[in-house]
Amino acid sequence: CGIVAYVGNKEATPILIKGLKRLEYRGYDSAGIALLNGNLNVYKKKGKVSELEEYLKDQKVDSNIGIGHTRWATHGVPNDVNAHPHFSGKRELAIIHNGIIENYASLKLDLEQRGHVFLSETDSEVFIHFIEDIRDNNQCSLEEAVRLALTKVVGAYAIVIISKDDPNQLIAARKGSPLVIGLGQGEFFIASDASPIIEYTNEVVYLNDLEIAVIKDGRLSIKTIEDVQTTPYIQRLDLELDQIE
Ligand code: GLU
Repeated sequence: CGIVAYVGNKEATPILIKGLKRLEYRGYDSAGIALLNGNLNVYKKKGKVSELEEYLKDQKVDSNIGIGHTRWATHGVPNDVNAHPHFSGKRELAIIHNGIIENYASLKLDLEQRGHVFLSETDSEVFIHFIEDIRDNNQCSLEEAVRLALTKVVGAYAIVIISKDDPNQLIAARKGSPLVIGLGQGEFFIASDASPIIEYTNEVVYLNDLEIAVIKDGRLSIKTIEDVQTTPYIQRLDLELDQIE
């Protein structure tokens, strides 16, 4: 039910945890983050963001890029395994997803018949396997694989994906669930609403339905799922931090 992502020069983990806490009001049953620091590591826990935070104290969590999620379970009980982020089969990609993939059962069956093994009961894990499968079969970029996947999934989503192969890249997309991108000094934020972002920057771009945002090497580009480039509309928020606390 809540999404936060960061790429830039700062430590990602405190930004993700603080952001997830700001999104707590949306309601959730579990929380998790994925970080890239050479490896792609996922940490997730059933329960409150503070429990995830406690768990992270014993982990090596320094990284300048990461994604974070609070889950409100729709497919699969609330537990550590079903919590997001979810890995792709080769564990090179990780996704956070808000929403529901309605045709996940048929996609899952098809992927299983071709050797994919799933760890969770979620529709979201099917989503990232599906993207990986398309990328491998078409030998295309991750961005193109995401776009092709979105033309085939039915349902609602806000997603952010990170990839071990692209340590300076975040890919986000939405349909039906909100996503806002914050533009800082050589850094980017993505969140379900502006509350995790506003303390760092007031320049934001609201992603429209059926748009894909790619943040790569310090640049933001947005295209539609029909592969048409769009010009990001940058808004200046005059919200002050004390207005959201
Ligand atoms: N459908 C996904 C799940 O059950 C995402 C739920 C959410 O929006 O948090 O894991």
